[in-house]
Amino acid sequence: MDCPYCLNLYSKVTNKRKSPEGIRRRRECLKCKKRFTTYEKVNRDEFYIIKKNGQREKFERKKLVQGIEKAFEKRPVPKEKIDKMINEVEEQLRKKGKKEINSSVVGEFVMKKIKKLDNVAYIRFASVYLDFQDIKDFKKEINELE
Ligand SMILES: [Zn+2]
Repeated sequence: MDCPYCLNLYSKVTNKRKSPEGIRRRRECLKCKKRFTTYEKVNRDEFYIIKKNGQREKFERKKLVQGIEKAFEKRPVPKEKIDKMINEVEEQLRKKGKKEINSSVVGEFVMKKIKKLDNVAYIRFASVYLDFQDIKDFKKEINELE
């Protein structure tokens, strides 16, 4: 980020907060020490998730995160890995460039990724997502893992 005063490339962030225009950062130029503000534009198209019951819901990263973090509760998987996985899922969904995406597509993406990280989290997520009704469903899924 160039300093608007001296065009130096290096600055440090002195303050960061969310604003309607994106993430607002107060910066201080490391060379001339003048301060300036930058905005990280969150210029992303919104899209909708079509749920199993046909309901249409705006995609919210927060919800994706909640479901996934729940599956990883108390599992020995570093948070950075989980965050990275969530970013990848979101990126894949956005790459599709669709206005509407079936929740099953989201579920498949997530399940594949979780499977690579942790089998227990995978079973937890699958049990909610695939709506396991009894122990047979669990067994089937666990057998497939083995
Ligand atoms: Zn400067």
